Amino acid sequence: MKLLNFKQLLPIAQQRGFHAVGSFNLHCLEMLPAYFEAALDTNAPLMIQISTGTAEYLGRELLVSSIQSLTEKHDVPTCLHLDHCSNLDDIKKAIDSGFSSVMYDGSHLPLAENIANTNIILEYARQFDVTVEAELGAIGGAEDGKAVADSDIAFTTVAEATQFVREADVDMLAVSIGTVHGSYTAKTNIQHELLAEIHQAVDKSLVLHGGTGVSDEDMHFVIRHGMDKVNVGTEMNVQWVKHCQDTFSSGKVDDSVRKFFIPARKAVREVIAEKMRLFQ
Ligand SMILES: [Zn+2]
Repeated sequence: MKLLNFKQLLPIAQQRGFHAVGSFNLHCLEMLPAYFEAALDTNAPLMIQISTGTAEYLGRELLVSSIQSLTEKHDVPTCLHLDHCSNLDDIKKAIDSGFSSVMYDGSHLPLAENIANTNIILEYARQFDVTVEAELGAIGGAEDGKAVADSDIAFTTVAEATQFVREADVDMLAVSIGTVHGSYTAKTNIQHELLAEIHQAVDKSLVLHGGTGVSDEDMHFVIRHGMDKVNVGTEMNVQWVKHCQDTFSSGKVDDSVRKFFIPARKAVREVIAEKMRLFQ
């Protein structure tokens, strides 16, 4: 089975009883088996997203080939997505390496420029059947270590969203409706009415960024109001670091290093499976 793009993955999720696709950031290669284990635990299709920092750190070829081989081994429908990227060349490189979905993030640019750059990526991605996510509005918190000041948070407006999808025919649109990246430093403040209005005005899959800190109640609301993709980034990292802090500090230097990772891998598997069940 080859890697699927988001538009191919979404109907599979829906057939299996999921209202949204969870898209889970992979932070290091040792974590990877847990993602497939969680998908098998829940019968969910799998969407793995990679920050540009992690893509550089591990190398795109290693990521694509390892995810591809686990997809085949476990027969899990899988989409490999490049998370937030504002560099057009890096996005093209990811597509060339075999990523099946990408995000161009021009949310920091004036609207016209965001639209123009998104269209450059769309034109390139369409040749390879790769889906494209764009972002409109400024989401709070931090992404790949870069902090967004509270004063820079800007909710997406209905008018801008309507214009955006009219001028750039993206597959998914990330909107800013009150979630924040890296929930461990800030609180979410979901704008229910705004989301309902955008959902009505825009006939596209919407994407929720900063899904880690959203309450179960709000999660049920957003996946019923157009959020077809929900990003979960921080939680796996937190579990990994927390468990590794314990095992590394109590272990000996000649212990097999894999023993230090086993509790972390189990915790990541559980947190992903728990999130996946939330989308059912
Ligand atoms: Zn994000």
